[in-house]
Amino acid sequence: MVTRREVLRVAAVLGLGSSVGACGWLSDDRASEGTSDARVVVVGAGAAGMSAAYLLARLGVDVAVLEAAPQVGGRIKTARNFVDFPIPLGGEWIHVDADVLDRIVDDPTVEITTEVVGYGDEDETWLWDGAELSNLGPSGDTDLKIVGDTWLTFFEQYVLPSIDSRIQVGTPVQSIERTDDAVVITDATGTAHEADAVVVTVPIQVIKDRDISFMPPLSSEKLEAFDAARVWTGMKVFIEFEQKFWPSSVVIEGSDSDAGQKLWYDASHGQDSGRYVLGLFTVGDQSIPYQQQSGDGLRDFVLAELDEMSDGVATPAYVQHLAQNWAEEPFIRQAYFADSGDWQLPSRMRQPVGDQIFFAGDAYTDGSDWSSVHTAAQSAREAVELMVDAGVV
Ligand SMILES: Cc1cc2nc3c(=O)[nH]c(=O)nc-3n(C[C@H](O)[C@H](O)[C@H](O)COP(=O)(O)OP(=O)(O)OC[C@H]3O[C@@H](n4cnc5c(N)ncnc54)[C@H](O)[C@@H]3O)c2cc1C
Repeated sequence: MVTRREVLRVAAVLGLGSSVGACGWLSDDRASEGTSDARVVVVGAGAAGMSAAYLLARLGVDVAVLEAAPQVGGRIKTARNFVDFPIPLGGEWIHVDADVLDRIVDDPTVEITTEVVGYGDEDETWLWDGAELSNLGPSGDTDLKIVGDTWLTFFEQYVLPSIDSRIQVGTPVQSIERTDDAVVITDATGTAHEADAVVVTVPIQVIKDRDISFMPPLSSEKLEAFDAARVWTGMKVFIEFEQKFWPSSVVIEGSDSDAGQKLWYDASHGQDSGRYVLGLFTVGDQSIPYQQQSGDGLRDFVLAELDEMSDGVATPAYVQHLAQNWAEEPFIRQAYFADSGDWQLPSRMRQPVGDQIFFAGDAYTDGSDWSSVHTAAQSAREAVELMVDAGVV
């Protein structure tokens, strides 16, 4: 089975992962005129929702963003006070080239100063087979880490300023009703927001669970696609230690499978810091044993595993830990569309409804690459392009 990581490598070779903003249409006259008199509501303020609102605002559209959580970011949530650099609790690596940051901002007058760091020959990957560790050599990882920032702080710096005043947090949308000449989006307080169109950017799980009711209902073909979409749950754990006793990453034999993934990695990699943080990234069924623990129980659980790998070095060096269980985020409840998911489903899921309901989000791609921050941004651009083509904005 081809995993997402393998697909990403192929996509990178083909240059597919870098198509965000490839057409550069926002730099044209249309964007600088900013003359649209359309009103659009964006549901959700994760990477896709922020990107959609940013692009629509630049077209002069009267855009409002309704976000259910008390803060923006969705799955790029960041912990700012754990150590002396921000910790990415969800999306962390840039899976394509660093220029993707420029392409997301798509504004030649803006200089992106976000620093990134890659992996070199000195960054080794080790394999844990359940009994012993073996050195696999240089990691060969082409991903990039953001230094002193996260995906969220990048969006805060370059995308949010122009749309901040248009975002209403703590506002879960409950229904979306289409009439002949408008879309009415009703939030949990019963307030109705009328618009010409809506961009729905909530996670797939939220649609699967029918948190939002659509009137008229979404077609059975579309709902069947959502219901069939395989979504992984997921968790991250960060542990600070007094000293570093790990390589760049430790892969667990057999863990990259249909049942998810699990990886221990150096979360301090490339950071300008003297603090030592080890990260656990785990999605799918592999994350369930960790999700069943919390607080001190989780600490003891992960330390027992690390002690086994490190001959007892972990526990005495433990300082503090931090966990993010994505299944427990009330408005997300998932990690992402599974690597082994059916590639055909996203095109059915994201099909617009009339010229009124558009979809954007990390899973809605052409199947070459998915479930990433950059694909969320790319899908937002594609949704806005569809709106432009349809004459909605
Ligand atoms: C553990 C983990 C590790 C990851 N690692 C990486 C990585 O290294 N690199 C990478 O590129 N990607 C990574 N990802 C994936 C990446 O984080 C996501 O693909 C991306 O952030 C999704 O953005 P989005 O806007 O599509 O969705 P989201 O970020 O989920 O945004 C959707 C928003 O909709 C809101 N919402 C939900 N329901 C409602 C409602 N009813 N009304 C209003 N708002 C609502 C939610 O609160 C949320 O803010 C990771 C994800 C996880 C969970």
